[in-house]
Amino acid sequence: MATSIEQTSTTLRRVLDGEYAEIRDRTRSWLGMPGHEPVYDLPIEEHRERVLAWTRELASEGDPAMGFPEAYGGQDAVARSVAAFETLAFGDLSLLVKCGVQFGLFGGAVLHLGTEHHHERYLRDIVTVDLPGCFAMTETGHGSNVQALGTTATYEPETGEFVVNTPEPEAQKDYIGSAARDGRLAAVFAQLIVGGENRGVHALLVPLRDESGAVLPGVEIEDCGPKLGLDGVDNGRIRFDHVRVPREALLDRYGGVSADGEYRSTIENPTRRFFTMLGTLVQGRVSVCGAGIGASKVALTMAVRHAAGRRQFGPPGGAEEAVLLDYRVHQRRLLPALATTYALHFAQDRLRHELHEVFTAEDPDDRSRRELETLAAGVKAVATWHATATIQECREACGGAGYLRENRFAALKADSDVFTTFEGDNTVLLQLTAKNLLTDYRDQFGELDPLGTATFVASQVASQVAERTALRELLGRLGDQLLPGRDDERDLLDRSTQVDLFRWRHDHVLAGVARRLKGGIDGGGDPFEVLVECQDHVVATARSWADLVVLEAFAAAVEDCHDAGTRDLLDKLCSLHALSTIERERGWYQEHGRLSPPRSKAVIKIVNALCAELRPHAEALVDAFGVPESCLGAWGRPA
Ligand SMILES: Cc1cc2nc3c(=O)[nH]c(=O)nc-3n(C[C@H](O)[C@H](O)[C@H](O)COP(=O)(O)OP(=O)(O)OC[C@H]3O[C@@H](n4cnc5c(N)ncnc54)[C@H](O)[C@@H]3O)c2cc1C
Repeated sequence: MATSIEQTSTTLRRVLDGEYAEIRDRTRSWLGMPGHEPVYDLPIEEHRERVLAWTRELASEGDPAMGFPEAYGGQDAVARSVAAFETLAFGDLSLLVKCGVQFGLFGGAVLHLGTEHHHERYLRDIVTVDLPGCFAMTETGHGSNVQALGTTATYEPETGEFVVNTPEPEAQKDYIGSAARDGRLAAVFAQLIVGGENRGVHALLVPLRDESGAVLPGVEIEDCGPKLGLDGVDNGRIRFDHVRVPREALLDRYGGVSADGEYRSTIENPTRRFFTMLGTLVQGRVSVCGAGIGASKVALTMAVRHAAGRRQFGPPGGAEEAVLLDYRVHQRRLLPALATTYALHFAQDRLRHELHEVFTAEDPDDRSRRELETLAAGVKAVATWHATATIQECREACGGAGYLRENRFAALKADSDVFTTFEGDNTVLLQLTAKNLLTDYRDQFGELDPLGTATFVASQVASQVAERTALRELLGRLGDQLLPGRDDERDLLDRSTQVDLFRWRHDHVLAGVARRLKGGIDGGGDPFEVLVECQDHVVATARSWADLVVLEAFAAAVEDCHDAGTRDLLDKLCSLHALSTIERERGWYQEHGRLSPPRSKAVIKIVNALCAELRPHAEALVDAFGVPESCLGAWGRPA
């Protein structure tokens, strides 16, 4: 007979898996098969070999192809492929990243930046991994600032070829996945020079190795050497010495060159063109966001199971020591993180859905694209930071057992750490989020660089935002004084109170930064210096917005849940997420007169009470994630 933990976790899993239950279960089964469990003790070369073999095996079963068009062996199922990727994050993260490079980055660049002849020629071989490839954007000198890349691709009308070149050491491609060992073709991002004029960064397909794996003339490749983690991924550096590729090698969906050397693009504005091109690659960011949430689920499952069984200390003279999970401090270390992981799961549902809508729309408008970009940047940043912090906390919560490599934390920590850096550094992403929040006029303001942000804010946005939010701010202040039950603990459990507190924080921070930027520039300050002066405020704006959308997603999921018992449990969990976030920010709320000291103390009390109430459900809550037992180190249950 099923225990109540099993029953609760089964119902919860149905809610979590939602419409993607079938593909998630399929991926879980694959991970659960003997020989697919995460590895922790292989020499680097063997690990790489294993990961490539796994990638090919997965490809042979057709799953990684599902996000590609039907014509090339896929199913046009963008969201489903992201759900599969998120689930793959329960296993060896080197496999996840290798798949991300091959199908998401390399395949995605060919699909979204290329045109039919590229699709016809390459996509089938990419989805089967007959053509392993790379996505070569980052250089030693430039990572976040892609517009300033140094690699050049110069068109020669007399030969009809592009000459791809690394003009200086800083312009070598760096950290490129699959470059050191497996990649045969690379999507190389370079400044496109046509008729002596720089047309900005474009991508070209440049062969790296022949079929036997030998590096081609003019290409120089070097292994990046040992990394913090991801041993199974062969990251490398690439230098090009005047390598010639045909005109057709240019991925020309957004900009092409005629045989006689005329550059054409449907997007006139070069900045807008550049950001439109980058925007098509947002799937990688959405996928890494989901992978970070998946990694948090693995860590929490292990730590909660450990805490539910491990005994230390206890009442004097008691027959048994107490279970770790019965200690309030231990609950506080794990349960708010568990609640936030649920919140992020539902935010990821929204993100995946919006990705699917934009990518399957006939002709998505700029506004939808910008909203997707803003959401992806904000949620990716908070989700991957959450993963890093949660995995560390869970490792410590498992004591010495957490430190053994065979128990997964070592690799989980090391491999997921870089999620905060690749697919956009989190701090840079939050600045992108803030920029989009400050403007509804992205077409006129496409540059990510700080100078552009400050100038634009000064010229167009700040006054509108400041005026709009000043009124809200005033109403908020009045409301705070007039609302009944200001120090009532009970209303802190009202979802509307929680959401209002999050929204108030965001509106206030946004209004403040807009005022400061405008004031600084109106006062004659140099826009760049003004921005640098306010940069922490800019990042806080994005963070407060991301917190708000994550809470809104969780609140909506609670509303949508029709099973009363499950809904009640999710409701408590949502309150724990909301109030532990408010607790984290309680200094800010008090500084701004939004929480009185007694009410702020009440938040702490309610977080404690919610931890106690949720403690009996902790195991069911993690079992609901459905992490395969073979991926849980010492805490996996025998089949
Ligand atoms: C394991 C691994 C795999 C990778 N795989 C690939 C791949 O396959 N293909 C590829 O093209 N790239 C790849 N990358 C590169 C990755 O995308 C970049 O490392 C990333 O974009 C960050 O760039 P950077 O390393 O130059 O850091 P930087 O951009 O120099 O950032 C360094 C620090 O400075 C801060 N910073 C930067 N600008 C600002 C600013 N304006 N204001 C405040 N702070 C700022 C950042 O927050 C960050 O903390 C990979 C990297 C790693 C580590």
